[in-house]
Amino acid sequence: MGQTAGMRIDLHTHSAVSDGTDAPAVLVEHAAEAGLDAIALTDHDTFDGVPEAQGAGARVGVVVLGGMEFSTRWDNHSVHLLAYGPRVDDPALSAELTRVREGRDGRVPAMIAKLADLGYPLTSDDVSAQAHGVSVGRPHLADAMVARGYVRDRDEAFARFLDDAGPAFVDRYATPLLEAVGLVKRAGGVAVVAHPWGRGARGVLGERVIVQLAEAGLDGLEVDHPDHDAAAREQLRGLAHRHGLLVTGGSDHHGTGKKHNPLGAGLTDPLVFEEILRRIAG
Ligand code: AMP
Ligand code: ZN
Ligand code: FE
Ligand code: FE
Repeated sequence: MGQTAGMRIDLHTHSAVSDGTDAPAVLVEHAAEAGLDAIALTDHDTFDGVPEAQGAGARVGVVVLGGMEFSTRWDNHSVHLLAYGPRVDDPALSAELTRVREGRDGRVPAMIAKLADLGYPLTSDDVSAQAHGVSVGRPHLADAMVARGYVRDRDEAFARFLDDAGPAFVDRYATPLLEAVGLVKRAGGVAVVAHPWGRGARGVLGERVIVQLAEAGLDGLEVDHPDHDAAAREQLRGLAHRHGLLVTGGSDHHGTGKKHNPLGAGLTDPLVFEEILRRIAG
């Protein structure tokens, strides 16, 4: 105990293995420059970047917790679940993540077709040129649109075309949330709901749902996230305390891909970090 006192810990970051813009090692170098002592690498639906990030962490003196941000579904709404420290070779978890990534790949042609109908043609090579790992997402379509000069940046691509309500949106498979919590727990990981009230999702995860999730083994809520205002944080903190859940924080850094998420824009209390490490070890 106490060896983490004063540490600056950001438990939500993305590399170019998913839709961040920095290679895992570069992300970790930036974390060191930003004065962080520990980060979790939480690429969407893959652990692929973890070994490189941990290698860089050992060189530059940043603790790198291996993790992933799991695409899940609750009541037809998208919910992101942060998974810290599960066994990456767990057969059930690996098989499910493969299924989720196949859903990511499978919807790309349909989104390309919608964009073509809207007058913004892209090829699948345009998209592949932007995706540097196994987890392809809308941000890579956005980057392909930027490269063609159709939009200025990812924000404009989402606002005009790619948002959930946008004209080029195509849904994809995501794991039912309770099943995802179970998969992470059975693989020895710690499960934390990412930005539970981010992007207008407040109506989706209310107290009754949080209670069900806690009963299913959920470990915590990501409270200190740039998408949450002060009032949301206070209410989420209260919810977490009432139901025995850990309170975490993270920036959701995506390199230059998201403007409001610099490294360290959300931090986790060192004592909570120690508890997460204990649960992973136990
Ligand atoms: P997908 O993984 O294909 O469902 O795309 C969703 C991802 O796109 C989210 O996890 C964010 O990382 C990113 N995203 C969502 N909205 C925006 C936005 N307005 N600007 C940039 N990135 C975004
Ligand atoms: Zn992302
Ligand atoms: Fe997310
Ligand atoms: Fe994220």
